[in-house]
Amino acid sequence: MYISFNRPYLCGKEFTYIQDAIERGKISGNGHYTKLCHQYFTNHYNLKKCLLTSSCTDALEMSAILLNIQPGDEVIMPSYTFVSTANAFILRGAKIIFADSMQSMPNMDLNSLEDLITPKTKAIVVVHYAGIANDMDRIMKIALDNNIYVIEDAAQCVDSFYKNKALGSIGHLGAFSFHETKNIICGEGGLLSINDDQFTDRSEVIWEKGTNRAAFFRGEVDKYGWVDLGSSFLPSEVVSAFLYAQLENLKAIQKKRIELWDKYYEVLERLEARELAVLPRIPEYATNNAHMFYLITPTGAVRDSLIEHLKKNNVNAVFHYQSLHKSPYFNDKHDGRVLSSADHFSDCLIRLPLYFDLTLEQTTYIANSILDFYKLK
Ligand SMILES: *Cc1c(COP(=O)(O)O)cnc(C)c1O
Repeated sequence: MYISFNRPYLCGKEFTYIQDAIERGKISGNGHYTKLCHQYFTNHYNLKKCLLTSSCTDALEMSAILLNIQPGDEVIMPSYTFVSTANAFILRGAKIIFADSMQSMPNMDLNSLEDLITPKTKAIVVVHYAGIANDMDRIMKIALDNNIYVIEDAAQCVDSFYKNKALGSIGHLGAFSFHETKNIICGEGGLLSINDDQFTDRSEVIWEKGTNRAAFFRGEVDKYGWVDLGSSFLPSEVVSAFLYAQLENLKAIQKKRIELWDKYYEVLERLEARELAVLPRIPEYATNNAHMFYLITPTGAVRDSLIEHLKKNNVNAVFHYQSLHKSPYFNDKHDGRVLSSADHFSDCLIRLPLYFDLTLEQTTYIANSILDFYKLK
């Protein structure tokens, strides 16, 4: 049987809740299920305020508007990330300063972070790769010392923590994704977490096309109108109904994913001992939400033949980001600094299938196929 890289799954009452949303007579945004999802996040992850969005990309774009990013402002972020992390700020005219990754894992290398700060630096975007936290205390201190905002691209971070604080709740703003490849899914979806009170009121206005409609429906203003910039960032109730069904099952989903992740680790640990591959590293300040299982091979050639080998064994394993500083769009805008760790992960990182419907048997089979590739079986 062919094992795909990802598979969207149903885990409970998705259809029931979608039907209920329709029967309630309102399927545009900010209704019953949107509110239930907001409550879930504020209660479980100690978020002050959050807003569902149509994607994490949207949540990042909202962040850029909230921070009043202007042409010429500089925003620092890792080069090893998804395009949306950068696009959201470039759309507002920001100049992106790409940082390198750590040597041992794709998260941003904080040792060189301060060197990238100039008087024009407005924000740092932290990407917690694979749902594994970067060192937020250190980042928040650097940001505070330099009067800079911090946005957490927490796209992969649902149910992951840094020193007992939920990822996405620590920076001034946090952006989550519920794209079908993430732990909790609704097709396309996201969430903006607003962790600094100065952004609370305006976030709702930007969310509702630049109007104070949300305050109007709470009875706080007696008419609503156009009061600021904005766009249509909120998802329909059909989407939030699907998402709420997933949230209700978050514990079971996470339990299953961690079981599969642990199985990979248990079988593949031998590769690290023999220096054949590097496995994910979980720093002592971070938890593992089992968003992703990856290996880093010594060279790109080994990575590519491992992908081929797995394909022959009916397993679809895939590479991941290509460094954004070298992308066709950005290449001539980059300042020429060599970002060797980001390039190394572009060439050598391979992601293995990991989703709710995958079985322990399939996971063992995939891991054994990898041992077989290294002639360890
Ligand atoms: C998935 C992902 C995004 C984009 O999420 P969407 O919901 O698809 O917009 C952004 N950043 C990172 C790090 C991601 O993994």
